Amino acid sequence: MTKDKNHYDVIIIGSGPAGYTAAIYCGRANLKTLVLEGTQRGGQLMITTDVENFPGFPEGIAGPDLMEQFRKQAERFGAELITKDAEEAVLTKGRPFRVGTSAEKYTSDTVIVATGATARFLGIPSEENFKGKGVSACATCDGFFFKEKEVAVVGGGDSAMEEALFLTKFATKVHIFHRRDFFRASKIMTDRAKEHPKIEIHTFKVIDEIYGDEKTGAVAGVKLKDLQNNSIADFPIQGIFVAIGHDPNTKLFEGQLDLDENKYIYTKCGKSATGIDGVFAAGDVKDSYYRQAITAAGSGAMAAIEAERYLETLH
Ligand code: NAP
Repeated sequence: MTKDKNHYDVIIIGSGPAGYTAAIYCGRANLKTLVLEGTQRGGQLMITTDVENFPGFPEGIAGPDLMEQFRKQAERFGAELITKDAEEAVLTKGRPFRVGTSAEKYTSDTVIVATGATARFLGIPSEENFKGKGVSACATCDGFFFKEKEVAVVGGGDSAMEEALFLTKFATKVHIFHRRDFFRASKIMTDRAKEHPKIEIHTFKVIDEIYGDEKTGAVAGVKLKDLQNNSIADFPIQGIFVAIGHDPNTKLFEGQLDLDENKYIYTKCGKSATGIDGVFAAGDVKDSYYRQAITAAGSGAMAAIEAERYLETLH
């Protein structure tokens, strides 16, 4: 193995629960470990309020606080953390794998991809114009700006329920627009939203268009389509929070790693190994089904153990 200071046993790309857990395991296994955390480190929990289902925190814990604990634990075991995006990754040529940021290039004998997933938007043209002026995908980040205003959340999953409940702290009223009358959200979250006096749920509704206030340029309302009769009506609203799921962050690996039809990384049955020997994937970037902090963390541990065992075969 080379003694180059920029050569690592393992490079972990990503810093959500999967990336940091992989770093804790690799560090404890005495592997020379580099984590390219990304410029917005910590993953999706950085924009989550209370995490109530992560074991070990009976009173719940704020997402960013939980991620800070993960990070400190990774540092404690010697993982080197760099808060930059991986901008290039050459995996198909085999070892040494090459991964680069805008500032530096690194090589490694194994790579763990833990780049997670990113929030989806509706994709209607007017949405783009109003991002930062009333359209958001993060209530934790932007909810504060909607004090005493009326807002809407789009979606019927746990994220939508969580965003809506959080927004009740600021908004006078929170509407949930959902395109059907079945909710993917867990029963406990759906019931909390349904029972909240400030929340009103509108089923079979989609946003057709967003319009703004001519003077302020901010969102003033939406044209809301009723999918049962195709009618469209004005719905005055000052904020729109889109909570309709996520896309895996796999652009860097297209053409290199096997991806499924939704662009999630395909791994060998029950394992973290990808189609390239020495390259592993962990967390939401390979998991469109569970997508929980705890499952991502478990998946990070699995990838680290597989990477460690792979490295043993090289000696
Ligand atoms: P999700 O479960 O995939 O739900 C996405 C929702 O958005 C669905 O209701 C979907 O409608 C709707 N949707 C998708 N595309 C749409 C479009 N173009 N227009 C309108 N609506 C659209 O995603 P999620 O809520 O982000 O949750 C992801 C995972 O994270 C889940 O496993 C969830 O349990 C977990 N999570 C957990 C917590 C927690 O426990 N505190 C919090 C947040 C998330 P359809 O149902 O009609 O497809």
